[in-house]
Amino acid sequence: MDFNLSEEQQMIYEYGTNLAKDFDRKYWTDCAEKREFPTAMYQKVADDGFVGIMVPEAYGGAGLGMLEMVLFQEGLSNQGIPLLSLVVGATMSLGPIGEHGTEEQKQKYLPAGCRGDIRFCFAITEPDAGTNTMNTNTMIKENGDGTYKLNGAKTFITDAGGSDYMLVVSRNKALADVDRKTDGFTILIVDRNAPGVSVQPIDVSIPIPELQYQVFFDDVEIGPEHILGEVGKGFDILFESLNPERIILAAVANGLGRYAMERAVEYANERVVFKGPIGAYQALQHPLAKAKTEIEMSSLMTRKAACLFDKREPCGAEANMSKYAGAEAAMHAIDASLQCFGGNGFTKEYGIFDLYPVARLLKTAPLNSEMVLNYIAQHVMGLPKSY
Ligand SMILES: Cc1cc2nc3c(=O)[nH]c(=O)nc-3n(C[C@H](O)[C@H](O)[C@H](O)COP(=O)(O)OP(=O)(O)OC[C@H]3O[C@@H](n4cnc5c(N)ncnc54)[C@H](O)[C@@H]3O)c2cc1C
Repeated sequence: MDFNLSEEQQMIYEYGTNLAKDFDRKYWTDCAEKREFPTAMYQKVADDGFVGIMVPEAYGGAGLGMLEMVLFQEGLSNQGIPLLSLVVGATMSLGPIGEHGTEEQKQKYLPAGCRGDIRFCFAITEPDAGTNTMNTNTMIKENGDGTYKLNGAKTFITDAGGSDYMLVVSRNKALADVDRKTDGFTILIVDRNAPGVSVQPIDVSIPIPELQYQVFFDDVEIGPEHILGEVGKGFDILFESLNPERIILAAVANGLGRYAMERAVEYANERVVFKGPIGAYQALQHPLAKAKTEIEMSSLMTRKAACLFDKREPCGAEANMSKYAGAEAAMHAIDASLQCFGGNGFTKEYGIFDLYPVARLLKTAPLNSEMVLNYIAQHVMGLPKSY
């Protein structure tokens, strides 16, 4: 077991620090305040080859693995920049297209996606299905000539309004008509501007630049070129994408927690209200030290999950544990950090309180912590299914 990073991996980990020289947290929070996509930063990340970090070189990517993606995302989040559009958009879409797309689809979407010319969003959640994806009710119905019509609605889709394409989880057969509930799923690549596609912003109280949307499909024409993989076999593609999403979001959580800790340590070493700096008080030190331990433990588990994924070994246990641990550690770190800052922690200037909603989101989305724990209890520990 080797815990050392290669020179290239270390460079990828430090990319966030370098990016922050041009695009720092202030840039990111300004975009969030204006509800404006951080276009210039995203373009720089794309130009530097990091949007397509896991896309094969033949299609314009860097051809690297999940560990490198984790290092990149953690490094960015270490600077207080959780670039969610890159997780739920590029990663969740370019990855599956690279694995399951036809040659034509790969040529059409991957190089342009890597260059940052086009953006993707990923649409699973539905108002009525919620956590229970099996109840997906966004349906494609055959026209009789190999084409389909898509109807349905999705909700809380990050960056749907700004995306050019969306990966849509649909059903070609209703749950009532299939033998196994995972049968009858089809993943679609839908043009955001196709006739019949409309979006409606949802106002959420999370200070991030990416907006959330409801998406409606009204008789959207779907041809074979819009289908990713095979009709009816979409669940396998969806299933494959779940572990990467959890691993990458764990990395985002680890970085956010680290950012909060580092700001707290700087502040606590300088702020004097009685005799010495407040950082000398154990009452402040211990929560910080505990949170630091939790973050580094979570980071280790995240890297383990990524390494297993890269070796194409099962990583469900590690992906879920790192997602759970990362979200918890980030929450504890931000809370401990906030306490150090006293009243200043709640100001826009110091921006510590603003970290809280983003970290808290990771306990609810993309998969809530209860479902993560259900997975661990059932699949890792052998307890009965609870739901
Ligand atoms: C800011 C934001 C961005 C998002 N981005 C996207 C996106 O880009 N694409 C996308 O498809 N979705 C996205 N989502 C949706 C997100 O993935 C869902 O909100 C989440 O999966 C929970 O679904 P739900 O809101 O319907 O909650 P529900 O399914 O109604 O669940 C509510 C609560 O019930 C509990 N619960 C549910 N089932 C169980 C169970 N079996 N055992 C124990 N407890 C349970 C959990 O605590 C859960 O939080 C986003 C959400 C937010 C808020």
